Amino acid sequence: MGFPLLFSPIRINKMELKNRIVMAAMHLSYTSNGEVTDSLIDFYALRAKGGAGLIIIGTCTIDDDSGMVNVITIKDDRYIPGLKRLAQAVQQGGAKIAAQIVHAGAMGVHSSITGGRQPVSASAVQTTMSGETPRALELEEIPFIQDKYARAAVRAKEAGFDAVEILGGGLILQFLSPLSNLRGDAYGGSLADRMRFGLETAEKVREAVGPDFPVLIRLCGNEFIEGGFSRDEAIIFASELERVGIDLINVTGGRHETRIPQITMIVPRRTYVYLAQGIKSAVSIPVLSSNRINDPADGEAVIRNGEADLVAMARGLMTDPDLPDKAKAGKSNLIYHCIGCNQGCLDSAFRSQPVTCLVNPRAGREGELSSVPASKPRKVLVIGGGPAGMKAACTAAERGHTVTLIEKEDRLGGQLLLNRLIPGRQEMVTAATDLSNNLKALGVETLLGREADAGFIKETGPDAVVVATGARPIWPDIRGADGPNVVGAWDVLDGKVLAGKKVVIIGGNAVGLETALYLGHQGTLSPEAFHFLTLHRAEPLETLSGLLNKGNKEVTVVEMTTRAGQDIGPSTIWIVKSELRRLGVTVMKGTKAVGITPEGLEIETTEGPDFLSADSIVIAAGSGSENKLVDELEGMVPELYTIGDAKKPRNALEAIREGFLVGLRI
Ligand code: SF4
Repeated sequence: MGFPLLFSPIRINKMELKNRIVMAAMHLSYTSNGEVTDSLIDFYALRAKGGAGLIIIGTCTIDDDSGMVNVITIKDDRYIPGLKRLAQAVQQGGAKIAAQIVHAGAMGVHSSITGGRQPVSASAVQTTMSGETPRALELEEIPFIQDKYARAAVRAKEAGFDAVEILGGGLILQFLSPLSNLRGDAYGGSLADRMRFGLETAEKVREAVGPDFPVLIRLCGNEFIEGGFSRDEAIIFASELERVGIDLINVTGGRHETRIPQITMIVPRRTYVYLAQGIKSAVSIPVLSSNRINDPADGEAVIRNGEADLVAMARGLMTDPDLPDKAKAGKSNLIYHCIGCNQGCLDSAFRSQPVTCLVNPRAGREGELSSVPASKPRKVLVIGGGPAGMKAACTAAERGHTVTLIEKEDRLGGQLLLNRLIPGRQEMVTAATDLSNNLKALGVETLLGREADAGFIKETGPDAVVVATGARPIWPDIRGADGPNVVGAWDVLDGKVLAGKKVVIIGGNAVGLETALYLGHQGTLSPEAFHFLTLHRAEPLETLSGLLNKGNKEVTVVEMTTRAGQDIGPSTIWIVKSELRRLGVTVMKGTKAVGITPEGLEIETTEGPDFLSADSIVIAAGSGSENKLVDELEGMVPELYTIGDAKKPRNALEAIREGFLVGLRI
């Protein structure tokens, strides 16, 4: 399938883009002091070579306090040479480059780092992101801050960038929002006054860079917090921005603090395109739609439907730098999609660590980890078709080895497939499908439904064997655990066994909570049914939303420690917990399972012993490595590697990373 609209050129002021695919700015943490590093250059140059039309780098801070120290800065002329190198590398790769200039305002550098200097904002309103209360900007300070945006834009131009993007979030949004702007002067109050800071900033930037240099703005399309900056206000602000000379509006979703998920896999693809569409209807300049667009077919549909003129695929290009070229060449089936897991990117950013990717372990280490052809092609046998094994097989095959992959189940994907029935988690399966498509294209021989034993391996005679046999669930050593009312979480998630009406899950780790989500959803209205019934007003809206939230099972999770979901990252755990609450699942922390009876589970809580009646007890008590082959093979094959859960049970990010590293090593 071709994508004629996605690959059609577009003009933004004097800048001509070869296609409509934009890599939006990302918080990467590939610098420790704001200077452009080789890692940043390697990262972006690869995305440019892969066919993106425009790459927006950033965030780029405009002064000492305007953002984290591990992001790029453009606060001083001395950073121009580094920025110039970055711009040249991207342009040589065939893409245009823009710098996103930002003042994070209340979310700027924490006072504990600046020696007590408070971040600034429209008003002294605490942000839940950092817990810090900023200092309200004095009236006379405002022009100085706006001048910093303008000077930063000029630096971008001097560094050879093709455009500049103002971040309309951060300080600008803090002025726009009635929640964070309580000012009584000309910069607060009515929408006209709340818009003043942003509009004056845009005007100053325009004036500083001249009429021909493209100036973009990234705008929150709806703050998604009650009483905050609304969609209607965003539309008015966008048309005002056009009036003062902005060339493109990049529309994103809500503010960081919103409790409505924005970019995780639970958000259906293209959900927030409607925000871009609303703005597009009010302006005549190009509009770029952001959030959860990770596939060329989605991008094409957005443009075809007239919802936006361009699409942002920041994380889509993180996972697969060649996404545009693959799509253009009719090889969309070989794209490694961003699955919205946030495990490598957003979770790392939250921890101030360099960003990586679950799907693409090379992200951020492009210079260090390149896949070069093997000096001597060899015969490689990979045992296990989970994420680790599939990634090892793909990487080894890409390098020219002859690879056979053997899997005892009749399907590839391993534990990734356990997500297929959990609402909001199905994109994990996409990661398995993408690996499997690439295995086929690379000519890896795949043997399904077959066990690899020592005899088979002797017969095959491989030069190297990779054991990626995964893990098996651990069964707790408690009374009654072998009873007929006890089932394993993996079997429940796989649809192999059914749980009763009243269920207790032992184990509040990711698997336990995800099983609770799956069971809690059973009997709720499907999104499609909800949509249909709402359209036809079949029931009062209240009844329908009640049916969305209440399933037909009573689910309780018991967790021994005081924290459930410890193996779920910070970007996602709050969503899982809020979904569990919505579905009425009870999570009991500090609760030990001590014995199972036909009637339920005996527990020990801080208050003493207790009993939970249940029809089914589901075991989600962790997993142990499945690696009995390793000892057998030791000394039998020239090279032997053990990876993924077979080495030590962890998550898919670690499994895929190890598969990749082994594939590079053989
Ligand atoms: Fe996408 Fe997950 Fe990779 Fe982030 S870590 S870019 S969300 S696949």
